[in-house]
Amino acid sequence: FLVLRRELPEIPENSDISPSEFANDPDPSVFQKRYMKEIRELGKGHFGKVILYLYDPANDGTGEYVAVKSLKQESGHVPESWMKEIDILKSLHHNNIVKYKGCCTELGGQVVQLIMEYLPQGSLRDYLPSRKLGVPQCLMFAQQICQGMDYLHSRRYIHRDLAARNVLVENDSLVKIGDFGLSKYIPEGKIYYQVREDGDSPVFWYAIECLRESKFSFPSDIWSFGVTLYEILTRCDSRQSPPEKLREMMNSPNEQMTLLALLKMLERNLRLPCPRDCPHKVLLHAHKKWAKTMLLF
Ligand code: ADP
Ligand code: MG
Repeated sequence: FLVLRRELPEIPENSDISPSEFANDPDPSVFQKRYMKEIRELGKGHFGKVILYLYDPANDGTGEYVAVKSLKQESGHVPESWMKEIDILKSLHHNNIVKYKGCCTELGGQVVQLIMEYLPQGSLRDYLPSRKLGVPQCLMFAQQICQGMDYLHSRRYIHRDLAARNVLVENDSLVKIGDFGLSKYIPEGKIYYQVREDGDSPVFWYAIECLRESKFSFPSDIWSFGVTLYEILTRCDSRQSPPEKLREMMNSPNEQMTLLALLKMLERNLRLPCPRDCPHKVLLHAHKKWAKTMLLF
């Protein structure tokens, strides 16, 4: 023991250096806060904020860029739902789903940050409005979203927040699904997940049964995909966004009545209008999917 002790480096007490740094094969999913250099904010949602960092252990600018998500409100403990989001992303491996890289833990585990690959073009909402994308490229993005969703569903997860703001763009020929903050596991034999706590919900992307009974399922993700497809084909033009358009159609100025008015309108079979250059075939297909979803409940 004494011989060994002499050969090991002295580790000061209360050191914040984790043992993994001394191991021969350090865990690549453990990120050290002190090597992270903040570059800029990438985006914010309801629950989280995402910041671009350069992770640079050598401290010579040769590090890698990573996107780091943390909760907007740190509460002194790590909420279970946040660890679930991290665990779900960690378990997913698909070309059209944003890649998990690891975690960064601070304050003895009271704060946990999620480290993901950085997608330089941001979300579809950041990317689409400034480009003049043709329909074929829009449909290619839509197809990739389907591939990612198909994989997610094959693992029995539902996303529950599929929207252009949660689809990330690597380059002009690759998109990936992100933000698994509302995702839920559907056990074998079950067909839906019923939500109890319902705070800030993306209701304008919700299917009828989600609004009426808080029942979320594989088909309700397909409904949200339809709304996302609408966003893509309107190139995420903010004047035609689903909340703007649906509010206009509802003609209901009362914010508190939004959910009920939206539900009534959808039950009357009113839907988002066909985007200007949307091919007729695509519209027909979308309506068929919406109709199928409705028949299930
Ligand atoms: P929230 O759960 O708060 O909605 P998101 O995971 O959706 O958080 O991230 C918020 C925003 O941050 C996204 O809409 C997107 O603009 C940006 N963002 C998220 N992840 C990445 C990433 N890996 N690369 C680049 N930008 C990202
Ligand atoms: Mg989001």
